[in-house]
Amino acid sequence: MAKNANEALVVAVDHGSLEGVKAALKAGAEVDFYQPENVRLPPCTPLFIACDKGPVDIVRLLLRKGASLVKRGVGGLSPLHSAADAGRTEIVDLLVQHGATLDVRDAFKNTPLMTACANNHVDTVRRLIELGARPDLTDGYKAQRLGIPDGNFDRCDESIKLIQEAIESKLLRCCNPKCGKPGYRKTLKLCAQCKLTRYCSRDCQIQHWSVGHKKCCGHDVYSADATDLALTVGWFRRLKRVFEQ
Ligand SMILES: [Zn+2]
Ligand SMILES: [Zn+2]
Repeated sequence: MAKNANEALVVAVDHGSLEGVKAALKAGAEVDFYQPENVRLPPCTPLFIACDKGPVDIVRLLLRKGASLVKRGVGGLSPLHSAADAGRTEIVDLLVQHGATLDVRDAFKNTPLMTACANNHVDTVRRLIELGARPDLTDGYKAQRLGIPDGNFDRCDESIKLIQEAIESKLLRCCNPKCGKPGYRKTLKLCAQCKLTRYCSRDCQIQHWSVGHKKCCGHDVYSADATDLALTVGWFRRLKRVFEQ
């Protein structure tokens, strides 16, 4: 029964059916069921799929039911990467309001901001910067290729411009999404545990901790894992073959 409910949950999320998601959860589906690889979907959680496909109401429901923001999909991709990749600004905002770490890195060191930029999702890029994403984390695979005319990452001028302006301002934002106050890096206090979030005041740190950073802190540090990289490359190759058939 639970097995069928888990499968029903994945299908409902994949098809964007809020009613289907509700029914599957009622039937006992695990909110963080890690679905194995299949021809349509990579190994990931329902939240990861919902962040890619929407609508926002499904994401909201999964978060209410306790879906994890730190469980990664293939390639070390977080739910925030998934939403940023799809340019779903409203979902990006919702995840961050629930404590998602803005500068979480995937297996190729890409941040959600660089992922949104590489797809030229201008509104998502703007919102991520407003929320406190660091514009200067450009050592990831995608950021290193932005603007290079190879047909993949060369159509993102507007997004690159926003990132450059943010870098030149030398200002970062307080990572408490209810605050977002700009400040210079030296004046913002870094979270001593994860060193990934920064705040304008102790109050902002406490508030962010209580809305969700408590669950994410310490789980979002980048770690290059060779096995994961090999798995990722293998999966994308198989996916390519499926679409080429
Ligand atoms: Zn603040
Ligand atoms: Zn932290």
